[in-house]
Amino acid sequence: MKRTQSESLYKDACCHIVGGVNSPSRSFKAVGGGSPVFMEKGEGAYFYDVDGNKYIDFLGAYGPIITGHAHPHITEAITNAAHNGTLYGTPTRLENQFAVLLKEAIPSLEKVRFVNSGTEAVMTTIRVARAYTGRNKVIKFAGCYHGHSDLVLVAAGSGPSTLGSPDSAGVTENIAEEVITVPFNDPNSLEEALHKWGDDVACVLVEPIVGNFGIVEPEAGFLEKINELTHQAGALVIYDEVITAFRFTYGGAQDLLQVTPDMTALGKIIGGGLPIGAYGGKTDIMESVAPLGPAYQAGTMSGNPASISAGIACLEVLQQDGIYEKLERLGALLEEGLQTVIDNHSLPATINRLRGALTLYFTPSPVKNYDDADKSDDILFSKFFNKMLDQGINLAPSKYEAWFITIAHEEKDIYKAVEAAEHAFSEIEKEV
Ligand code: PMP
Repeated sequence: MKRTQSESLYKDACCHIVGGVNSPSRSFKAVGGGSPVFMEKGEGAYFYDVDGNKYIDFLGAYGPIITGHAHPHITEAITNAAHNGTLYGTPTRLENQFAVLLKEAIPSLEKVRFVNSGTEAVMTTIRVARAYTGRNKVIKFAGCYHGHSDLVLVAAGSGPSTLGSPDSAGVTENIAEEVITVPFNDPNSLEEALHKWGDDVACVLVEPIVGNFGIVEPEAGFLEKINELTHQAGALVIYDEVITAFRFTYGGAQDLLQVTPDMTALGKIIGGGLPIGAYGGKTDIMESVAPLGPAYQAGTMSGNPASISAGIACLEVLQQDGIYEKLERLGALLEEGLQTVIDNHSLPATINRLRGALTLYFTPSPVKNYDDADKSDDILFSKFFNKMLDQGINLAPSKYEAWFITIAHEEKDIYKAVEAAEHAFSEIEKEV
């Protein structure tokens, strides 16, 4: 597959944009360092690049694009919003309408606030939890990603009772000392951390179903245990549902799994492809936020009519009958096909899947936490990614990401992807 235009644009981009990309996850550094593909048009399940190549897209823009690209209902909503002016700096009727829609779908959101990204949403829930509890420390889970604010760019210490260390240059030791990182699906480590730091802990922050070291579900009782231990310690439970909300059901992972956090951060799907974030939770906690309470949070672009209109339109599409059944059907078909490919070959691989989201890890063992996911082989993944791309299958260039199926995908797209995977596995087997 010829991608000379992409290569030339990437060269140009590197002269003007740091690293040639506007988010590091878009770089091909982890998959051999080639030029990322410059896409020009998205339509349903498909992408067309600047060289005229067509791809089946399983990236879904890292999660938001659950309806497929350029869904007509969302496109119309954005166009209408633009005709009425893109930004007011005043409240609008649309914001009320969207708040009600979100609250109906995720009942734990007694009060919400709209922001502009998942990063902002999570960052603010932590500030609110600190304001509400009068405590400082945050417990999070290894490998979960919560955006790029300082507090969540902190790596694990040497054990559950040790403080974290900066995971990015520019994050200070002082900040890292506010954060404790424990393994996912390991209630004993959480208990140990809360035992040591309990009186200082403001919140425990978790992706209720992990989407950032692949798709990893909580083991039975794990989320309930987080609630029990955290509340015993007088701290708040925050769910980061930036990836999970509306991905697996019409509502949050909390609605699917029937566990209720104190606060929730949202993003991605709820913006229908435009920038958005939101956070919310119990009324008395949310009343800590300005202008009612002492925790400050603001945003010039927050609640802008285009993002809110796109979000409402996206949720309207997702309310239609059969949406999540279709995602389940296609997800099961993809899993079954890829499992047959794995069984036909001798490469170590395992699949995690929930509904229309799936991760193919190049490790033979089950993946239940970040350490398991980290064992997925970098070289095998890199070869697989590039061979899939060359056959017109667009995946995320990272072994930790999921394949996202949209409602625009059809059976034929799944069969093509499986056929491409069969070919990729055969080729890789010859090379290793
Ligand atoms: N939380 C989770 C679970 C995420 O997956 C992401 C983004 N991948 C974020 C927060 C940050 O969202 P954003 O990129 O919109 O800032």
